[in-house]
Amino acid sequence: MIPIAEAIEIVLRQTERVGAETVPLSKTVRRILAEDIIADSDLPPFDRAQMDGYAVRAADIANVPARLRIVGESAAGAGWHHEMKAGEAVRIMTGAPVPAGADAVQQVELTREPDRESVEILQSVEAGRSIVRRAAEIKAGETVLRAGEEINAAMIATVSSFGYAQMKVGCQPRVSVMATGSELVNVNEKPGADQIRDSNNYTIAAYASLCGATIERLPLAGDDTEELKREITAAAERSDVLVTSGGVSMGVYDFTKAALKELGAEIFFERVALRPGKPTVFARLGKALVFGLPGNPVSVAVTFNLFVRAALRKMQGATQTSLAEEHALLVRDIKGSLDRESYLPAVLRTDETGTLLAEPLKWRGSSDFVSFARATALINLPAGEKATAKGSPVRVVHLPN
Ligand code: AMP
Ligand code: MG
Repeated sequence: MIPIAEAIEIVLRQTERVGAETVPLSKTVRRILAEDIIADSDLPPFDRAQMDGYAVRAADIANVPARLRIVGESAAGAGWHHEMKAGEAVRIMTGAPVPAGADAVQQVELTREPDRESVEILQSVEAGRSIVRRAAEIKAGETVLRAGEEINAAMIATVSSFGYAQMKVGCQPRVSVMATGSELVNVNEKPGADQIRDSNNYTIAAYASLCGATIERLPLAGDDTEELKREITAAAERSDVLVTSGGVSMGVYDFTKAALKELGAEIFFERVALRPGKPTVFARLGKALVFGLPGNPVSVAVTFNLFVRAALRKMQGATQTSLAEEHALLVRDIKGSLDRESYLPAVLRTDETGTLLAEPLKWRGSSDFVSFARATALINLPAGEKATAKGSPVRVVHLPN
């Protein structure tokens, strides 16, 4: 049994990049940048009005009301490109360039237009008011996002503004998913006596696609070493990562490990000091990395996000391969494990003072996937602690969603 940190280190050490490709902007969310994003222009590209109103010289309207002559109009996309002189004003719209000679914008609500030729300014402004100066937000040539960052919706305005109609991103790892267990039937079937519906194939596929992978869900495999060997061999040949579930514990019909060993796979670890998820297997068969996750649905979610996710992110060149972490106060006593670290399902919320709280889900063990459906995070307890008291600070990691 090895510590979790060591297992993750091994995973990262064995994982190689899968290369990069250029994809259109509309397909980049959740992908990992393989190039730096550089500003190709100043932002704003010109002194920009922040309000609808009048471009003025602040000195002209030190005493109000002040009457100015309207000499032109500057609209977004159609500026007024002349020098504005003392006693003059230019009608201006939000987003439009501020003309030379003007040093402030007074908002239209604080003005009156007695006729089309003149405007009465009702309130003074200081120089610079309602103008965003050229390059105040960013200068041409500056790096705004770095290779290794995950692209999210909030970044799209930035990359679009700098002309990135396509971007270089890490290639998508090809993941094959294979649930094993003679008790399993497909979700669209009615389980017979002693049978249950498979959920792991879909859970693993869901989490893997959140990591940017392409997925092939394989047919359910029975607890039969020869069948497993055939399926594993075929899957390993056409994927970067094979994720199996089930058949890695100590039961008489747990054959996944035996199949891997008989195929000559290199096994890197097969027991991790983790609750839930102790019998997790990590191996390589040919070029493919193989993760043999335990069968329990909650163990699958935990072990996938600790180990498989790290590999999939590293393959794409992500700088951050681990789950986002925080610290929170426990709202209830919970029990850890003496010899293993725990990652227990929880819901996070804040109280009225803004303190982050972690509420452990009422949990009846690693098969309790119905309460897991509400989980947003995992509470990480160190090994060697019997119980952690309500009110204690604990480390939590966010589950991807
Ligand atoms: P195992 O690791 O094969 O001993 O399985 C542990 C538990 O998880 C057993 O109760 C299995 O029935 C259950 N299980 C295994 N595979 C799946 C699956 N694909 N979907 C849902 N439950 C599963
Ligand atoms: Mg089984």
